[in-house]
Amino acid sequence: MPFLIRLLPLLICLLVACPGDIAREQFVTPIMGTDLTLLIEGSDSARIKSAAQAVQAEVERLNNLFSTWIDTSALAMLNRKAGEGWTEAAPEILSVLRVALEYSAASHGAFDITAGPLVRLWGFFARVERRPPNPEDIARTLTRIGSEKLDIDFANGRIRFDIPGMEIDLGAIAKGYAVDRARDVLRSKGIGAALVNLGGNISFFGLPKGRDSWSIAVRDPRSREGLLGTLNLGNNFAYRGIASSGQYERFFEYEGRRYGHIIDPRSGYPVEGILGTTIIAPDATRADALSTTTFVLGPDHAVEFVRELEDVLAIIVLVSDDGSIHMRISHALRPYFELAPEAGEVLLDSF
Ligand code: ADP
Ligand code: MG
Repeated sequence: MPFLIRLLPLLICLLVACPGDIAREQFVTPIMGTDLTLLIEGSDSARIKSAAQAVQAEVERLNNLFSTWIDTSALAMLNRKAGEGWTEAAPEILSVLRVALEYSAASHGAFDITAGPLVRLWGFFARVERRPPNPEDIARTLTRIGSEKLDIDFANGRIRFDIPGMEIDLGAIAKGYAVDRARDVLRSKGIGAALVNLGGNISFFGLPKGRDSWSIAVRDPRSREGLLGTLNLGNNFAYRGIASSGQYERFFEYEGRRYGHIIDPRSGYPVEGILGTTIIAPDATRADALSTTTFVLGPDHAVEFVRELEDVLAIIVLVSDDGSIHMRISHALRPYFELAPEAGEVLLDSF
C-alpha cells in the first residue's frame, strides 16, 4: 500500500499530464530564406525534441522540392523543361499549383506563380546590386508570364509550358504549405500545443499553458523592429493559417524610390500602394497565397476580394496622406486585435 501511494502521483501525472511539469521549448532554424520557429509545449522533453527534429526534416524535404534557389530541386528541374513538352510533376507540386491557380483566376492574374521571370529581371532571385530594368526588357519578359500559358494535366500528373523561359515560382505559397505540413507532423507526434512560424507564415493548435490565446505580432511595415499590434488568437482560430506580406524585408532603393519583391504580373512593376497585409485563412497554404494576392490587388480591391471569400479575415495596412498608419481590419477579427502603444497614431476601421 505505501508503495502504491508513492506511485499514485506519478500515475496521475501520466494520465492527466501534470500542468506543473509542462515546459515550452523554442527551436529556431534558418531555412527557405527565412527562419523556422517552433514553440512546442509538453511534459516530455524528449518527445518535444524529436517532434522538432521531425518538423525540421519535413521542411528541409519541402525546400528540396520547391526551392528555385536549389538547382536540383524538383521544381528547378521541372522549370528547366519549359518549352520541351510534357514533363512529370511531383504530386505535392501539383497540389500547391491547384490552390495557386484558384487564386490566380479569382484575382484575374494579380497572383501568378509564373511571375518568376519578372522577379528575376528585377534582381530578386540573386544577391546582386539592383536597379530598375528598362521598360523594353519588362515588356519582353511579360510575354513569358501568365498561368494560362501552362498546361496542367492533373489526372496524369504532368505539366507543359507553352513558352521556353517560363518558370513556376512558388515563393508566395510554398512557405504556407510547409507550415501546414509542419503542423501535421507535430500532431502526428502527439504534441498537444504548438505554434509554427516560418517567416511570418503561422499555424497553431492547443493553447500555451495557463492562457487562452497565442499572441501573434503584427509588424509595423515602416520599420524593421516596430510593432503595430497583437492578434490574440485562441482555439476558435486553431489549425488555421496566418500570413503576412509586405515589401519591408526584400526591397531595394534606387534614386529615392523603394522597389519590393512582390511584382504586379499585369504591369511588370513592383507593387506600391499598400504597406502590408495579414490574412487568416482555413489553412496556411491559402493564407500565404492570399496575403500576396491582396497585396498585389491594392487596398480597395483587396477589401472587396476578402469580403467575397468565405472564412477569410484580413488586416490591410496603408499609409495616409500625412504619413500615419491606416489599418483596415475584418469586422470579425477586430475583437482579437490590440493596438501596440508604440504604433503611434493609427486610424483603425473595420470592414
Ligand atoms: P515572402 O516570401 O517575403 O514571405 P510573399 O508570400 O508575399 O512574401 O511572396 C513573395 C514572393 O512571391 C516573391 O519573392 C516572389 O518569389 C513571388 N512573387 C512575386 N510577385 C508575385 C505575384 N504577383 N504572384 C505570385 N508570386 C509572386
Ligand atoms: Mg504569400
